[in-house]
Amino acid sequence: MERFVIIGNGPAGRAAAAALAASRSGEVVLIGREHPVPFSRPGLIYRAMGAMRDADLELPVPAEVQAVHGEVVAWSPEERWVELAGGRREPFSQVIWAVGAKARPFPGTVDPGFPVFSLQEWGDAQTLSHQHPRSWGVVGGGLVGAELVEWGVGRGAETHWWVREPHLWSERLTEEESSALARRVRGFGVHLHLATPVHRLGHPVVTAKGEFQVEAAGVAIGVVPNAIPGDACSLDAIAHVPHAHAIGDVAPDGPRSWEAATRAGRELGMRLAGMPFSASPPFSDDRTRCFDRTVTTLTARTPTWEVSTVDARTARSLRLGFDEQGRWVRAVAMGWKLRSNAIKAAFAAGAPVDALADARPFFNEPEGTRLPLNAWAQLLKDAAR
Ligand SMILES: Cc1cc2nc3c(=O)[nH]c(=O)nc-3n(C[C@H](O)[C@H](O)[C@H](O)COP(=O)(O)OP(=O)(O)OC[C@H]3O[C@@H](n4cnc5c(N)ncnc54)[C@H](O)[C@@H]3O)c2cc1C
Repeated sequence: MERFVIIGNGPAGRAAAAALAASRSGEVVLIGREHPVPFSRPGLIYRAMGAMRDADLELPVPAEVQAVHGEVVAWSPEERWVELAGGRREPFSQVIWAVGAKARPFPGTVDPGFPVFSLQEWGDAQTLSHQHPRSWGVVGGGLVGAELVEWGVGRGAETHWWVREPHLWSERLTEEESSALARRVRGFGVHLHLATPVHRLGHPVVTAKGEFQVEAAGVAIGVVPNAIPGDACSLDAIAHVPHAHAIGDVAPDGPRSWEAATRAGRELGMRLAGMPFSASPPFSDDRTRCFDRTVTTLTARTPTWEVSTVDARTARSLRLGFDEQGRWVRAVAMGWKLRSNAIKAAFAAGAPVDALADARPFFNEPEGTRLPLNAWAQLLKDAAR
């Protein structure tokens, strides 16, 4: 009888557990250290803002899976057990490391006693939910940085946002689209500082463009893989153990999105269960949100030509990319809700430009906000002044 032990109950571990349990290939144990059951990491910001309760974030443990709450601190590939803090051992016949990533620490100087927060783990959202700084600064221009900015503004804090790159989300947006978004962000009262690396966090915060006074700061400058405990237990070492596997954000070039982690977990689970797995077409699906604007990028292939429209006044834009045969291969939308499944189906079918003559099947109405409604109503009033 197989006994699968999965370390990490994020989307990758949970999907692998679900696939293994559904195949009835053996006993399945899912271990997580942050929370007894899997939860929505993208939902953490709503918990930090006070717009959701803990229970709203929790995801069901897949049927026939045994969930264990604890941190794995040691393992033996030879004797086939993992050990939790406290000494409990779980034997396995196959072990899956799905331990994801942790927030990358700020590499510059942090003055002793200066409060610095991140938003990566369950506990971070709990901590933030109790904070009410009057002034707040955020280091990092990515998805989590944007969430922390919105959190500060939603709490009524004077908010600075220091972004190293000269354009906001430059890897997704053209310069024109990016400046429309920056203008909208500033319209909500955010002090957005582009091309501004931060050197030191403290009183004052020292940046390449001068000094600032804030009560506390959030740091969101990417992630580094969580460690796999034990000596010589790098991914390379795991690759040489036939009954040990690594998935999710921890795997080399592993997924950096919820959907990709889920897909990778399901694929590994089905492979270990000996079940046929047909991967869905590899369309990349990237979403980044700031206040009431989501930038959605759906890509089948790199386009050879694009058409686009930008409304700088409302920060709404749409860019459609096509290949040399005129087949639709990319959509980049800011401020529009896309019907992603319909668009991915069109990519898969090799839909030509003409398919877009009637765009209604591909777009929903303009989008709203994720701030609690009261905070949003207040912000709109302030922005209109
Ligand atoms: C605030 C935030 C918002 C995000 N929003 C989005 C979004 O909107 N869309 C999107 O696609 N992606 C989003 N992401 C990224 C997405 O959440 C990750 O890519 C995804 O969670 C990775 O899945 P994973 O299963 O590989 O790892 P994780 O979700 O990191 O899960 C790994 C789990 O393993 C646990 N673990 C680690 N070591 C041990 C150990 N020794 N013992 C026991 N347990 C251990 C960790 O605590 C963690 O719970 C967001 C990330 C963050 C931080």
